[in-house]
Order: sequence, then C-alpha cells, then structure tokens
Amino acid sequence: MAVDPKGTTLSAAELRRMTELVADDAMSVAGPGTTHRTPGIEEFCTEAAALLGEDTVVREDSALDKASRDWAHMSPILAAKLPAGRAEVVLRPSSYEQIQPLVALAHRLRIPLTPRGKGTGNYGQAIPLHGGAVLDLTGCGRILGAGDGWIRAEAGAKMSDLEAHARTLGQELWMFPSTFGTSLGGFLSGGNGGTGSLANGTNGDGFVRDLTVVPCTAEAEPFTVRGEEALPYIHAYGTTGITTTATVALQPARVWTGLFASFDTWTSATAALSDLVRLEPAPRLVSLDEPGLVETFEADPALDPATLSVRAIIEEQAGDDARAIIEKHGGRVTEVRPAPRGPALISSLSFNHPTYHLMKAKEGYFHLEIGGDVLLGDPAAVKAVFPGTVLHLEGMRSGTVGMLMAHYQDEATVYEGIAALEALGVGVHDVHNWYVDRRLDLVRAAVRTADPLGLLNPGHLLGAR
Ligand SMILES: Cc1cc2nc3c(=O)[nH]c(=O)nc-3n(C[C@H](O)[C@H](O)[C@H](O)COP(=O)(O)OP(=O)(O)OC[C@H]3O[C@@H](n4cnc5c(N)ncnc54)[C@H](O)[C@@H]3O)c2cc1C
Repeated sequence: MAVDPKGTTLSAAELRRMTELVADDAMSVAGPGTTHRTPGIEEFCTEAAALLGEDTVVREDSALDKASRDWAHMSPILAAKLPAGRAEVVLRPSSYEQIQPLVALAHRLRIPLTPRGKGTGNYGQAIPLHGGAVLDLTGCGRILGAGDGWIRAEAGAKMSDLEAHARTLGQELWMFPSTFGTSLGGFLSGGNGGTGSLANGTNGDGFVRDLTVVPCTAEAEPFTVRGEEALPYIHAYGTTGITTTATVALQPARVWTGLFASFDTWTSATAALSDLVRLEPAPRLVSLDEPGLVETFEADPALDPATLSVRAIIEEQAGDDARAIIEKHGGRVTEVRPAPRGPALISSLSFNHPTYHLMKAKEGYFHLEIGGDVLLGDPAAVKAVFPGTVLHLEGMRSGTVGMLMAHYQDEATVYEGIAALEALGVGVHDVHNWYVDRRLDLVRAAVRTADPLGLLNPGHLLGAR
C-alpha cells in the first residue's frame, strides 16, 4: 500500500540518501547467488530437530529455494539483485508455544532467523539476506479466541480465516490486504492496509490491540505489547522480534455490496471517487483504474476495458446514494453485484493487484506507490514523468493513494522520475528496496533489547547499531 498518511514513512529521497550513507552495511549482504554457510548451522539443525521433531526441520533444496523468495521480482531494480540470500534450513513449528525455544537456540548458536508467512511481500522483506534459518509460521494458524470487537490468533492464521470466523460472530475485520489468504503475522509485519483502510487507516492506526512477541535474547522470553506500544513491531519485517500471536480489531458485520461504474474522463471519475469516499455509511473500499489496467483484468461484464473503472464496496443501504454520485459525475453503473462475489472481486483488484495483472499481461513495467490529492486533478503532468504511465487510485478518508506503473528504463531514470513526481506534490513510497522505512526511530530503539545480536532478518534494517 502507498504513502503512510501519518508521514512516518521515509520519503523515497530520504531512504535513498540513507542507503548511500550506509553502503558498507548494504555491501555486507550476500551477493547474487551467494550461499551462506553459517558456522554452527549443523548443530542448530540437530538441536532444533531434538526440540520439535525431524519433520519440522526441512533442508530439501526446493523448500530452501521457496523460503528464500517473495514477490521482490515485481521490482525490476530488486529483481536484478536476486537471488539475494538463501535459507540454510526451514523450520516449521505447528504452534506458537514452539517458537520460543527455537529463537533461544538461534540466539545461543548465533544463527540468523527470518520469520515468514506466505512470502507475498513485494519489497523482498522476507528474503533471508544472510542465510541461516527461515521460520515458516504458516503451520501456526489457530484462531485462539474472539469477543466483541476483537479476534486473537496465531501469527500464521490466514486473514481470510479471521474474516470468516468473525462473520460467524456477526463481526468483520477492520481491514485485510488484497492478498486475502496471507498470514496475520506477515500482514502486520510486512503489509500496511487494504479493504477497510478507507475508514480505518493503516494497520498501525489502532487495528492491533496486542501482540505477543518473542525477542532474540538468551531466554527469548515472550512479552505482550498493547496499543501504541505495538508500533515498533508493525511493518518492521520481523527485525524487532517474532510475533507469535496477535489480537486485532473487529467491527459489527455490514451487508456489503459491490458497485461497478465506468467513466469517460479522469476528472469525472476522480470527482466520483472523492464523493464515494465521503459517502455515509462509509464504503469499505473505493478504487479507480485507467483503461490500460482494466484491459489486463480477467474479462468481466462489470468491467469495461475501454473506459475508466470506478469500483466501490458499499453498504447495501447506501446503494441509491452511490448510484446518484456516479450519475451526477456523468458515469454509468455497469453492475451492482451483491456479496460475496461483488465485494470479493473489488477487493481482489485493489492496491497492488492491478500492478500484478499488468505485469502478468505485459512485460517491461515497474511500479511506485504514490499518494496525494494532487492525483485527483489533471493527471497530464504526472503521466508525463514516465513513458507509458497508467494509474490506479484508492480513495481513503485520510487522502488519496495509489499505484503508478510505467515502462522501465533503468534505476537512475526511476529515481529521477521520483524526484520529478515529488516536485509535482505527489508522495512516493519507494518499493525498490528491502529496508525497513517506517517508524525507524522506534524500530531501532526496540531492536536494542529485542535483538541485540542482530540475528532477526538481518540486512533489512539500516544503521541499527
Ligand atoms: C499482488 C500483491 C498485492 C498486494 N496487496 C497488498 C495489500 O492490499 N495490502 C498490503 O498491505 N499488502 C499487500 N501486498 C503485500 C503482501 O501480500 C501483504 O502485506 C501480506 O499480508 C503479507 O503477508 P505474508 O503472509 O505473505 O507475509 P510475508 O511476505 O511472509 O512476510 C512479510 C514480512 O513480515 C515478516 N514476518 C512474517 N511473519 C512474521 C511474524 N510472525 N513475526 C514477525 N515478522 C514476520 C517477514 O519476515 C517479512 O519481512 C500485496 C502483495 C502482492 C504481491
């Protein structure tokens, strides 16, 4: 997801400056194809197997390769650096109680440890740059409890399972990513927001009620953080500890429906997007795509590939008001499709999914996460920065965010273009690096006690010590 409305994300320029300043740190990362041999890894595997059983300690090449990749290849700049590190062993615990002894063992034997959910992060966050062990948490998927306004689960639980469980209780998640089947721990540690963020903000804006975290220390004694105290552990790529369980916010379930509309001009489509964002009761999601993106989506009668597409997940009772907004701005409602199909399709085409569809259909593109209400106006200057630009927008109560996709030339051109976009007032989040870039001061302070030896997902936190 795009630019953090709280402004706590480093700008692309700030991050680039930092990356250059700490070039030595970056150079200690494994070079392409490098296979690490961490001293003590054999002893670690033997002891881990004694703790958890042989089946939990996996060393087959195919498993090591899979655990060493995520979706970094979506960035041509990162893709040129791949493979960037390889797991030496994959650990597959099946309950959160098994995590503490593994982390204590990694600490004792000085083994790098990279937590992992479904491996769908698109900044290379889950790549074990320094080898060592990958802690695959997808086997820790139990839902541990739920009540009025909250649900608690193991880190490997799927967001889709949490939503389904909440619905049986007449509730629903505050938010989930467009990669709906990904893990709770991965979404909190590597993601940012999604369906529901329009009204509820990012996953650092109160969604997390508490987290239980295992630090990489001699005892690896778990601790629980609540509310704002959880911020250093959110979107920190596991560098501040392994989240074993999390409690996140629910709200009363609504009857959602999917509204699909098409527009002929950018100005009318963005005017409708702005009005839909302010609709009451609040929509769960409002997205906009240019035809150049719509044509890459799977064909659907609700999606006209020749026009701009505006889609909204709205409460059924807001249907007439939403239709009036579309018509007032000269658009056409192509379909109103009830749940589950309508809202599910709209979620599945949100945030980074249009990028995915474009890149699947056509070669040679890169993308940027962008933000700012300047995007609602005439897009000519924004589109002139990079050749072949196509835009996807997400409406938020906190401001417009989105994705810019364009033809890739080379790294230097991307960074020149980012500077040009910023000069136009467009916020840009750099998706072409794998370094933690949010709430850095909090993260660095937490790391001092949570990972004094720098063993957790090493190489992803610049200037930590
Ligand atoms: C096409 C596409 C669309 C996407 N859409 C969205 C979107 O709408 N919103 C969004 O926010 N993101 C999106 N993403 C990014 C990503 O899919 C989500 O953030 C997803 O929820 C990450 O979950 P995961 O299980 O795949 O995590 P992983 O990729 O496995 O892990 C993500 C990071 O968290 C760390 N981590 C994992 N588990 C733990 C744990 N238990 N404790 C500590 N650290 C941990 C990992 O080391 C890694 O750094 C998208 C990605 C793609 C490719």
